[in-house]
Amino acid sequence: MAHVLVTGGAGYIGSHACKVLAKAGFTPVTFDNLCTGWQDAVKFGPFEQGDLLDRPRLDEVFAKYQPVAVVHFAALSQVGESMSDPGLYWRNNVGGSLNLIEAAVEADCLNFVFSSTCATYGEQDGVTLTEESPQRPINAYGASKRAVEDILQNFEQSHGLRHVIFRYFNVAGADPDGEVGEFHQPETHLIPLMLDAIDGKRDALTVFGTDYDTPDGTCIRDYVHVMDLVSAHVKGVQWLLDGHEPRVFNLGTGSGFSVREVIDHSRAVTNKEVPITEGPRRAGDCTKLVSGSDRAMSELGWEPNRSTLEAMITDAWRWHQSGHYER
Ligand code: UDP
Repeated sequence: MAHVLVTGGAGYIGSHACKVLAKAGFTPVTFDNLCTGWQDAVKFGPFEQGDLLDRPRLDEVFAKYQPVAVVHFAALSQVGESMSDPGLYWRNNVGGSLNLIEAAVEADCLNFVFSSTCATYGEQDGVTLTEESPQRPINAYGASKRAVEDILQNFEQSHGLRHVIFRYFNVAGADPDGEVGEFHQPETHLIPLMLDAIDGKRDALTVFGTDYDTPDGTCIRDYVHVMDLVSAHVKGVQWLLDGHEPRVFNLGTGSGFSVREVIDHSRAVTNKEVPITEGPRRAGDCTKLVSGSDRAMSELGWEPNRSTLEAMITDAWRWHQSGHYER
């Protein structure tokens, strides 16, 4: 079976992607340095521990498996941390990706799927974003991802590296079968932090900013179920293997929910109170990030069927209660 190299395959999104790649008939090879991932999340193919900054190690893995494509998730992804330590983000996310791209080209693996982010767009006056919206990142995380998008375009021109770029909106939920799920340490994302607060693992959820220019004063995000998100990646790999041109796709649902709305849905799904406190804005947060996903739907045939807030919170809550959080 054809190998696909999955960087970050031990992480939240990468582990779910390995599951659906394996289901689609590929052998996912996880390359991960375990800085934020978990070896026991690697269940669907071989594991190769390594760091993207270690070029000889990358060359070794390309030579061993001769993958038909790379799906590149491995990156640091915390907006707040990227504002306090931008060098870390430029070194890992940009330097690491450049190493990987050069290794792929040298190994003649010219199909490359890249995890980018809506954070590359930055503040956009509340409009629904399309792939043509201008990219004006307001944090180092978004800037580092946009830089890798530029590198991919350059390598397409110079070396024929064909790529699909997915710009993610807010990913949530877990594998409904319970084989893999979300676990970050430290956790910074809204829904898992809220579930922690609901079942007493932390005192309260802090709402970051209540004075944004939105109907209820809290930030608005477009939440996508992780299973829907990773299914797009299988379609992205297939798109490249079928010989289509490089393409950028937003992965969102077109529906935005405020932090307070997410809290209300969580209360309804879990039937429990959500202890909250109100705090100041978090550095680097945009007011509203909502995507149009017409392109992914019409060109890739993507169908984000599970991406209701109810399904995402239900699946996340089931995973949360399964005990996998007690590592
Ligand atoms: N958020 C919050 N409290 C938290 C974590 C997040 O109010 O403890 C807010 C955050 O300001 C943003 C939204 O929830 O508006 C989603 O944040 P998250 O970190 O989950 O994802 P991001 O949008 O940064 O990718």
